[in-house]
Parts: sequence; C-alpha cells; structure tokens
Amino acid sequence: MKRIIPVHEPVLDGNEKKYVMDCLDTGWISSTGSYVKRFEEKFAAFCGLKHGIAVTSGTAALHVAVAALKIGKGDEVIMPSFTMIAPALAVDYTGARPVFVDAEPKSWTMDAGQIESKITRRTKAIMAIHIYGHPCYMDEIKEIADKHGLYLIEDAAEAHGALYKGKKAGTFGDISAFSFYSNKIVTTGEGGMVVTNDDKLAERSMWLKDFCFDKERRYFHEEIGFKYPMTNVQAAIGLAQAERVEKIIEQKRDMARRYNEGLEGVRNVTRPYEDKDVKNVYWMYGILIEDGSKRTRDEVKKYLFEHGIDTRYFFVGMHKQPPFLVKDGKFPVTEELERKGLYLPSSTNLTDEQIEYICKTIKKAVE
Ligand SMILES: *Cc1c(COP(=O)(O)O)cnc(C)c1O
Repeated sequence: MKRIIPVHEPVLDGNEKKYVMDCLDTGWISSTGSYVKRFEEKFAAFCGLKHGIAVTSGTAALHVAVAALKIGKGDEVIMPSFTMIAPALAVDYTGARPVFVDAEPKSWTMDAGQIESKITRRTKAIMAIHIYGHPCYMDEIKEIADKHGLYLIEDAAEAHGALYKGKKAGTFGDISAFSFYSNKIVTTGEGGMVVTNDDKLAERSMWLKDFCFDKERRYFHEEIGFKYPMTNVQAAIGLAQAERVEKIIEQKRDMARRYNEGLEGVRNVTRPYEDKDVKNVYWMYGILIEDGSKRTRDEVKKYLFEHGIDTRYFFVGMHKQPPFLVKDGKFPVTEELERKGLYLPSSTNLTDEQIEYICKTIKKAVE
C-alpha cells in the first residue's frame, strides 16, 4: 500500500538543524540559553508586541495568561464551546470556571452575539479563540469586554499571523497565548508563548512561569508558581521557524487556494470561510460533509483513509465534556460542526498532485 497522506507533518527545512546543533555543541540545552530570548524577541516582533514569554506548551501559556490576570476561584471566563479542551483546562487550573457560548456558523469562531447573555457578577474575562486559522470577530468582542470592564484574552494557538481588519490575531486583548505544538503554524515540537504589550503582565508572567522566584530573596516565593520553561533546543527550532513564518503562512494560504479550487462545485461539501475583513491562515483546512452526501461523514472519513488519505474529525463541544458538562445547554452550531466536520491533510509540503487527488477522491465519496 502506498504511504498514507498524513493530516500534518512538520517541515523543518530552514536553520532548525544548524541552531539545534549549536545548542548541542555549546552545551546550552536548558531554558537559560540565548535562543530562548532570541525566539521570544523574534516572535513578539512578528506579532508587533513588546513582550514574549516562552513556555512549555500552548496550554501552559494559557494557564500563565489567566493566572497573570489574577483570575481564580469564584471567577468565570467566557469562551466558545467549539474548541479543543486546552483553554477550558487552563481556566480550570486557576480555580476559575469556563462558561461557554456557541459557535457562529460561517467562521466557526465564537458567536459574539451570545456573550452578553452569559455575563454575571463573577465574569472576569472573555477568551477569544481563533479557530482553524480564522480569527474571531474582534471588534464585537472587544466592545463587549470594554463595555463590561472585562479582560480580553486571546487563544491564538491556531492563528499565527491571521489578520482581522489588518491587525494580527493575538494583539487585540490584554494578553494572548500561542502554541508551537508540532502541527501548529510555527513549531518547536512542544511549546508555547505568552505575548502582551503590558509591561506588568509580562513581568508577572515571567515570574509565574519560573516558580515565582523572589528577585531579592532567593528561594522565597510569594505565590504559587509554575515550572513551565521552554528549553534552548526548542527555542532554537522556534527561531528558525519564526525566520520563515511569513513564507509558511503564504504556503498555508496557497494550500487552501488549491483545495478551494479542487472542491469548487462539489455538491454536499462546504469549504472553509474567509470573511472579507479577515486573513485566514488555514491552520487546518476543514470541510463540512452536508446531509445530502452519498456517504455519511464517518463513511467519507473511512473511504478517504482506504484511499490513502488521513483526516480528522472536528472538536467535540466543551459543553459535552464530562468535566465541563452543561446540563440542558443549547449549542446547536457546535453540535452541527462536530457532526459534519472533517479536516484534510494540511501540511505546507502537499504537492499539486496530492491535493488534486484528495479533491477527486472526496468528490467520488460525496456525490
Ligand atoms: C493546540 C491548541 C492549544 C494547546 O496547545 P498545546 O501546545 O498543545 O498545549 C490551545 N488552544 C487551541 C485552540 C489549540 O488549537
């Protein structure tokens, strides 16, 4: 059997190897090496922000971001139900509670129109989560946050370089988190970063991620800190990736353009959306298998796999997860996306032949 086309594989064809070898040659492999600072500066500059604080994962970055705002027990953070679980976990880790709103059907990001109905006296923040590379409708969300005096946190783990009205995802709120997991647009294998323009939040994040070490009194700790360091070796990979990030984003968009062409006019398939105010970076190219399809979504997945194409289902809504169960919750859009969604191989190194083959095979499966 020929090789399965994977959903994603990292492409490490820049300075990654050179920089990693430099770490090994010099013995700087812990989080105190110089690549960490260089990567933090490079990535923050890419975002157009003052501060970047590198950590072990996107989940850790979210945890630090929420904790930096002193959100904790008794507090609530409003976020979308259509997401992977990390942002909900990060809120829970602090003792606060995630409160969910449904998704908006076109962009699949949080439905800003539902946020206000979820605000209570306990609400401290809104967490905007950009989905599959499409940014949230940040004007609406920011206006609500400002009106109610809430913090705005962004989970930009899937949206490096995505634009909303010309402004980058991760730059709208008080503090934001990125992930550099191996399938993300910029990768360090495992890793993440907190980014912010706020000097105090940056300092507090640095402090929190490293045991809350007291600056004057060594081995004295005022608060519960974390141990979330990114290693120099990871940062070396990240720096090499960050040097090419604009190119990677263009490759993602080119992948989406080729898929959009190949799937044009295919009945029973909904292609991903790009709002006119938005630059979607297509972290993953997701489609919906509509109800008229010859095969069900599950059968399409199986059919594609039998034809050498790997795919993934969309997220299962947070309101259905046992730790966050919302009784009698109404999340029809999230549930429709969960039922219909499939994302396709989305590596930047897909050839034209592969994309044409995938599109043809999908057409056979659904029409
Ligand atoms: C990947 C991802 C995360 C978590 O990042 P990790 O680095 O895997 O911890 C958080 N939020 C979203 C939306 C993600 O896609």
